[in-house]
Amino acid sequence: MGMKEYIEEAESALLHTYNRYQVVLDRGDGVYLYDTDGKKYLDFCAGIAVFALGYQDKVYNDALKNQIDKVIHTSNYYYNVPAIEAAKSLLKASKMDRVFFTNSGAEAVEGAIKAARKYAYLKDGSTDHEIIAMEHSFHGRTMGALSITGNPKYREAFQPLIGNVKFATMNDLESVKANITDKTCAIFLETVQGEGGIYPATDEFLKGIREICDEKDILLILDEIQCGMGRTGYMFAWHKYGVKPDIMTSAKGLTAGVAGGAFLLNKKVADNSLVAGDHGTTYGGNPLAAAATNAVFKRFDELNILDNVKEVGDYLFEKLEELMNENEDIIAHRGIGLMQGLEFKIPVGPIINKCMDNGLILINAGTNIIRFVPPLVITKQNVDDMLVILKKSLA
Ligand SMILES: *Cc1c(COP(=O)(O)O)cnc(C)c1O
Repeated sequence: MGMKEYIEEAESALLHTYNRYQVVLDRGDGVYLYDTDGKKYLDFCAGIAVFALGYQDKVYNDALKNQIDKVIHTSNYYYNVPAIEAAKSLLKASKMDRVFFTNSGAEAVEGAIKAARKYAYLKDGSTDHEIIAMEHSFHGRTMGALSITGNPKYREAFQPLIGNVKFATMNDLESVKANITDKTCAIFLETVQGEGGIYPATDEFLKGIREICDEKDILLILDEIQCGMGRTGYMFAWHKYGVKPDIMTSAKGLTAGVAGGAFLLNKKVADNSLVAGDHGTTYGGNPLAAAATNAVFKRFDELNILDNVKEVGDYLFEKLEELMNENEDIIAHRGIGLMQGLEFKIPVGPIINKCMDNGLILINAGTNIIRFVPPLVITKQNVDDMLVILKKSLA
């Protein structure tokens, strides 16, 4: 079948919750994807900041194949070796103390909310605690995650959501302070906002929040689902700031292609929140997903991924600054490492479509922002190639 026929079939079978780009992707190789008609694309999306190692990394693929031939799934009622190894690596890399594996980012966020509420409940026995989240944040589509997602359009039709959530303005400490009450149990934010338009937290803001949290025993929860796992050139974005969260979420690059996620806790919260019977998952941390995480950590070491992200990320930053200065439709450029955004005066949908025609995959973050979240193994040459296509598409 040709792409057109595939797309017609998809549109008559799948629930229409996405306005998809008109392409059927078929296979990947390195930093390239191919559609079912054989057309090649340079991929600066990486499945939305997921495919950190690029496609067909042999070590990663072999690790999955080996695990498939051993056992794919058992249950969290039993221990399994890949999950034990993944937990050890993740705790070491994150500097947190305990981990709970999930199937997705949203599920990690749900767990983080539950842990925070339970922590507060154990302190005072009351059940009316409040969470402060940020405007323009994105934490996922399940009801809890949606409740703290700062986009009214995503929330509106699904009310009532979980209650007692207040929204503050990212990088405005006063707006956070104004929302704090003696019921506040957690402040929840992305260290670098992704979906909302690539807004990194400022140093001052994150440090200020940490101080407030310490003073009032409020939990700081950092969502590192998109900005974590090396994306910023640091293993987790908060390492750059030196501001440690009490709870942290991870997903996307954590398993880099198969479904997976995690929430992590410091000792204080781990010892005073969820206990046996409070929380669970059928698939989370299963041997296949854990094998993926183990392969990711192995490849991060072998390929010096963090160094590559810093180096190529800086190069990308320079080049996008140049592009912004040349093009008057571009009004801002933000980001860290291989998580960057260009904000336009105009909607970027048509530009992204043009790039696809010309063999480059990019995604937006909001109507006017193009997001650059390529595989973490890209080279400066890939950046140059991307720019040639982007400039041609802008012309
Ligand atoms: C993608 C994302 C999520 C949701 O993850 P899913 O795996 O899609 O549920 C949550 N938070 C952030 C910051 C994300 O980028």
